[in-house]
Parts: sequence; C-alpha cells; structure tokens
Amino acid sequence: MAAPVPPDPDRMSADTTDALILGGGMTGLTAALWLRGFGLTHLILEEFQLPGGQLHEIHAPIDDYPLALGRDGPRFASLVLEEAGRAELSILVGSPVVRVSARTKTVRSGKERFRGRTLLLATGLRRRWLEIPGERKLMGRGVSRSANLDRERYAGKPVMVIGGGTAAVEDALLCAEVGCDVTLLHRTAKFRARSDYLARARKDPRIKIIPNAQARQILGDEAVEEVQYRVRGSGMTRAVRASAVFVRIGWEPRTELVRGQVGLDRAGYVRVRAGGATTVAGVFAAGDVCSPRWPSIANAAGQGAASAREMAGFLGRLG
Ligand SMILES: Cc1cc2nc3c(=O)[nH]c(=O)nc-3n(C[C@H](O)[C@H](O)[C@H](O)COP(=O)(O)OP(=O)(O)OC[C@H]3O[C@@H](n4cnc5c(N)ncnc54)[C@H](O)[C@@H]3O)c2cc1C
Repeated sequence: MAAPVPPDPDRMSADTTDALILGGGMTGLTAALWLRGFGLTHLILEEFQLPGGQLHEIHAPIDDYPLALGRDGPRFASLVLEEAGRAELSILVGSPVVRVSARTKTVRSGKERFRGRTLLLATGLRRRWLEIPGERKLMGRGVSRSANLDRERYAGKPVMVIGGGTAAVEDALLCAEVGCDVTLLHRTAKFRARSDYLARARKDPRIKIIPNAQARQILGDEAVEEVQYRVRGSGMTRAVRASAVFVRIGWEPRTELVRGQVGLDRAGYVRVRAGGATTVAGVFAAGDVCSPRWPSIANAAGQGAASAREMAGFLGRLG
C-alpha cells in the first residue's frame, strides 16, 4: 500500500492553509483533490496512521462504485491512497483533532494548533458498541464487529448477533451459512433491515430471532461463553450459550467536537445546505457526517467534490 505523502511543512503553516480538512476518509481525500485543482492549499488531519476511514471496514467485494468493483475496501483504499500520493495531497496522519473552534476555524491536535481559512468536517461515523460488562474484556475473543471478518472461526458453533438493521440480519445469514446456530437479538420488534434479508432470516431454521430483548452482560473467562439479556416488558433475565457475539447496532456521526457550534440534527448529523455549507460561515461538512440517508462511497466522493467547490467560491477563487 502506498504510504501517505508526508505533509509539506510550508503548507502546514496554520495561517496559510486555505482549507483545513478534518478526516482522511473518502470524503476528505476527494475534497483535497478538488481543492488542489482549484489552486487552494489544504491540510488533512487524520487520527489514524492509515487514511481511508470506513473503507478499511469493507470486507466484502464492493459492487456499487466504479474502480472498486470486485475489490474489497482495503484493496480499494490502497488504490485511493496511491492516487493521493501521486497527487501529493497533504495528509498529517496520527493526528487526532481534540478541539475545534468553528468561529475561528482553529483546531487543536496534541500540542499543535492549526487554522484554515475554511474548515471541512469530514469526520464520518463511529461504530456503536453495547457498552455492557464483558464486551470490552472479550473483544477479539468472541466479541466481534463483523461476521464477514470472523465467522469462519466460529463455524458450527452457537453465536449471537445483536441488532435489527441490514448489517445485523446479513451477519446472521452469513453465520448460518457456515453452520452456526444463530440467535438474533434485537431491542424492539421493528427491524430496519432489507426486507429480502429479513424474509430469508425468518425462514432459516438455524436462526432464532428474539425481539424486544436487550443484552445485559457477556460472560466468559478466556472467551465468550454466554450472553445474558433482559426481555423488555416482563423484565425477566435469560441467558443463551454463545461462542461469539457480533455487535451490529449501527453507527453514529462524529460531531462531538462541534456540538453547540454548528447546527446538528436530532441524531447529531451536521445540517448542511447543498454544497455542504453549515450554519457557520466558512465551515463546511461533507460525506457520512452529514448524510444519514446516503452513507456510501459515491456520496462521500460527490459531496467531497461539491464542498471543495463551495469552499473555493467562499474564498473567491472560482474566477
Ligand atoms: C462494513 C461497511 C461496508 C460498506 N460497504 C459499502 C459499499 O459496499 N458501498 C458503498 O458505497 N459504501 C459502503 N460503505 C460506506 C462507505 O464506506 C462510507 O460511506 C464512506 O467511506 C464514508 O466516507 P467518509 O470519508 O465520509 O467517512 P469515514 O470513512 O468515516 O472517514 C472519516 C475519517 O475521519 C477520521 N476522523 C474522525 N474523527 C477524527 C478526529 N477527531 N481527528 C482526526 N481524524 C478524525 C476517521 O479516522 C476517518 O478516517 C460501507 C461501510 C461499512 C462500515
């Protein structure tokens, strides 16, 4: 995989950066390419050593984005990062932003402060976890984020999948395919999953669906052995034997740094106008962080490009 290009220290000078981009996922990388095309300087701050964001979480072949077809996320990410390297994008990796002032467009990462003439929020989403006893302790020892990644290790064993969306039901089907006895636990009776997946799961004799139930505790010394859950309404606690627990309860926008500064919707996503303008002049948002309805690579690329254009317009650089 191509290493991200180290940032040019001149460009990092806080006062001369036209666009400070928070997040080096598909959105931030695409925006940077377009900003470069408009002749604007930029700096991407990415908390991890490897940019690409959620692309690294896609373990099935991608079938809905050109150039990604048939590749899984990490392979596609390596292509994108090669391009980013060729285009000499300025990416400061290992730089978690810990404070943001939207008004002054200043951010802090570690001991350093950076300022942009414009700011792009491209921080994407973070996975939700149950935050119950046993989950953290047994992470990687039965507690898993994806059946695509780990199901083979538990083939033929009893497993639990938690969640009611498409990812959860798909994981239940994937585990059943490798001979697992699956308990699919969901906290309400309403499933948001694709109806075809749900219909298949309901028919599958290996999958037992338990609605209105909330996981309370994951038990096991060296590895997951059992999950305790509470039945809503009755308040009764029950237990199911399981060798693995796949936690698929969704994602949330990473907007905690700008809460109270830019307009957010009730679920915490950034409110934007077309082109990504937020409620604060010069602060833009794009990609998953403002797209509860369309989280996708195509949307991230499209919004990244559109926001770059709006930022260029804001800076009076569209000619
Ligand atoms: C399992 C899975 C499968 C998917 N499959 C598909 C598919 O088949 N097709 C498709 O189109 N889409 C798919 N998606 C969705 C797609 O990957 C995302 O919509 C897209 O990658 C989002 O890009 P983004 O840049 O907006 O956000 P992200 O990818 O979330 O990137 C945000 C970046 O910001 C960084 N960041 C966040 N906070 C900070 C901070 N404080 N400081 C510094 N850096 C920070 C993060 O580390 C991350 O690199 C899938 C997603 C998942 C999880």
